[in-house]
Amino acid sequence: MGIGPEITEYSDCRICPRECGADRNAGSYGYCMSGVLPRIAQYSPHRWEEPPISGTKGSGTVFFSGCNLKCVYCQNMEITRMETGLQVDVEGLIAIFLELGRTCHNINLVTSAHFLPTVARAITEAKEQGLSVPIVYNTSSYEKQSAIRALRGLVDIYLPDIKYHSSRLGKVLSNAPDYFDVASAAVKEMLEQVGHLETDDEGIAKKGLLIRHLVIPGEIEDSFRILEWIRENMGKYAHLSIMSQYTPEYVKDKGSPYARRITPQEYEAVLNKAVDLGLCNVFAQDMSSSSTYYVPDFDQLRR
Ligand code: SF4
Repeated sequence: MGIGPEITEYSDCRICPRECGADRNAGSYGYCMSGVLPRIAQYSPHRWEEPPISGTKGSGTVFFSGCNLKCVYCQNMEITRMETGLQVDVEGLIAIFLELGRTCHNINLVTSAHFLPTVARAITEAKEQGLSVPIVYNTSSYEKQSAIRALRGLVDIYLPDIKYHSSRLGKVLSNAPDYFDVASAAVKEMLEQVGHLETDDEGIAKKGLLIRHLVIPGEIEDSFRILEWIRENMGKYAHLSIMSQYTPEYVKDKGSPYARRITPQEYEAVLNKAVDLGLCNVFAQDMSSSSTYYVPDFDQLRR
């Protein structure tokens, strides 16, 4: 399909906080390894997100290739580091959204930040063509606040990670020492736009914010700081998914402290902290989810 039609924002690209200045319209790839036309690694109904997102019919998940964060432990390494997948233009994206929207509860955009202008246009036009299910925006949160503002009115449900609190972890694991400053500003903007998660009579998400946090081996104190920040800035009704699925298989340095799974004790300590802080809308996973054959299994945390 070639380079694709020129989109102003992709020249001297500064869409994300990397601000690497790649001229994607001229065929260059930036830090995110992405050109102008999105590549879709996979699109399908997905049944293993949190219950309000997957529901009974599945979440219409669209996995975008490339990533602006590239964590050392990424379980989607083949997708995020390489130029793989089906190359589509705006019309192609719209067709995918409409197809998934016929059978799924929602359209779930996974790591699409580096294609923001294209995705925003595709959502707008798909809605004009009759797409009626909610749009879920599934992101690492390493995004400019201005980028999230550009999605106001287009995204119904935000599903953002908050990965690290310390700049040390942001640097070591994602080459992003400013991660927390960037992500916390982005997530505040999301809450301001859509509020806390709202579900229908069947428990299916219609609108709102659901924050995800993946527990990192040996770093539960960092998880505690994140939970405290959520409690202080989002209140006790914030919806939160605490994830145990850290998979060390892709960590290249096998002697690294991050080349292991988390222990049940670490995970339990983080869940207990959420309870102690009075957070009352928390999803937890079964520890068996932390395998390469990841099958997320979420339960609402009982207090
Ligand atoms: S979206 Fe990609 S090309 Fe643009 S600034 Fe970020 S990393 Fe660079």
